[in-house]
Amino acid sequence: MNERDSEIMSQSLSMHGYVEGMDLESADLVILNTCSIRAKAEQKVMSLLGMLRKVKLAKPDMQICVAGCVAQQEGEHLLERMPHVDLVVGTQNIYNIGELLDLARTRPGYVAVAMQENYDIPRLMPARNEKISERLQAGDDVKLSKSAVFRKFVTIMQGCNNYCAYCVVPYTRGREISRKVNDIIEEVKVLVESGVKEITLLGQNVNSYGKTNIVTENGLPCSFADLLHKVAETEGLARLRFTTSNPKDLSDELMRSFRDIPSLCPQFHLPVQAGSDAVLKRMNRKYSVAQYLDLVDRLREYCPEIALSTDIIVGFPGETEEDFQGTMDLLDKVRYHGSFSFKYSDRPGTRASDFSDKVTEEVKTARLMRFQSRQDEISLERNREYIGRVKDIMVEDVGPESLKGRTDTNHIVHLHEHVVAKPGDFIDVEIYHAGQHSLKGKIV
Ligand code: SAH
Ligand code: SF4
Repeated sequence: MNERDSEIMSQSLSMHGYVEGMDLESADLVILNTCSIRAKAEQKVMSLLGMLRKVKLAKPDMQICVAGCVAQQEGEHLLERMPHVDLVVGTQNIYNIGELLDLARTRPGYVAVAMQENYDIPRLMPARNEKISERLQAGDDVKLSKSAVFRKFVTIMQGCNNYCAYCVVPYTRGREISRKVNDIIEEVKVLVESGVKEITLLGQNVNSYGKTNIVTENGLPCSFADLLHKVAETEGLARLRFTTSNPKDLSDELMRSFRDIPSLCPQFHLPVQAGSDAVLKRMNRKYSVAQYLDLVDRLREYCPEIALSTDIIVGFPGETEEDFQGTMDLLDKVRYHGSFSFKYSDRPGTRASDFSDKVTEEVKTARLMRFQSRQDEISLERNREYIGRVKDIMVEDVGPESLKGRTDTNHIVHLHEHVVAKPGDFIDVEIYHAGQHSLKGKIV
């Protein structure tokens, strides 16, 4: 989501005549787009801002802007700690970044973090990137992440209304709002026409798309599954993905989409957070372990090939050894292809930050290590299941004697041979080796 927000700012700024720079020395403007989901992400911003203070002393005309969730959360307070910041831009205000920077030029220390009650996601269309994709196809060494040209994010929702007890998102990104169907379809069309092959639809909980506001011109409802079907009709779109989903709202209709939509990749990130009903209840997640496991079974019935991944929080306040064992058991039952796991981190304003029975840092670290080492074993076993199989990969990077690509299941595949192919091409490879985080293949 931040990556897409950065793109939006950069696009909006290019309309104001700004050009993306490559290094700090030549930059007239530095924007830090920030994340505050865990304390560590926020600490990184603060230390980077500290470093920028020195740069600004030598270059007083350089503007420093802080955007994203830390900006939203801290507002004015950020300036108390970091007086050299010229502009603080909240999550709903990034679309006006050009005007706001102009304001900040005459009034340094400008803060724009107002949130609107009835916020509508603006209709900013992506700039066509045909020139870049053409140059890449022609073999030019464009200074860009090459896969970024062919894989794009499209925002379909903003904010969240779920208030999971640990989570800062409803406070930093505001109320849940779904973007208009037509705007989404148009944006996807523009991207695909300019050479994009893979689209990932983005929202904090895409399962509740279209539930809190009207998204169609005729006022008729449009579920997330309906939206997927519509987007999938875009001619030339090879791969469709989405992220992320709260299991509590996962409909049968959406699960069936994995069977019915050929371009919908057999890959699903379904964050479970914990394998104990007591912890899930205190987290306010609104599903039980048994209900979650039932969803996993049904998903695999509709799409046996599906690769599942998840998010886990260890050491949520009050998590006992038995609760944590529940998470380990769940891991062995589902056998995820991969997971993102985190130590619980107190966030300001959230309900869990007031819970009294905090788990110690030592226990959290030990549990995280136990979880991650078991996940690594399972990932390796899962990856070995691909050995001997032929997979279609989308090429991301080509070297003289190597190639990197990605499967529909979102596995990275490395080839160590000379292949005549360009980024964005699809090629068949036979998998002959599996590591924990990637596969090796040879051209068929
Ligand atoms: N909307 C998504 C989650 C977005 S946040 C969902 O509901 O699944 C991404 C992940 O960060 C979460 O799934 C959670 O595992 C983790 N996370 C969020 N708040 C956290 C906190 N306070 N401490 C540790 N991890 C947290
Ligand atoms: Fe946070 Fe829960 Fe919303 Fe996900 S669903 S963004 S975890 S509050």
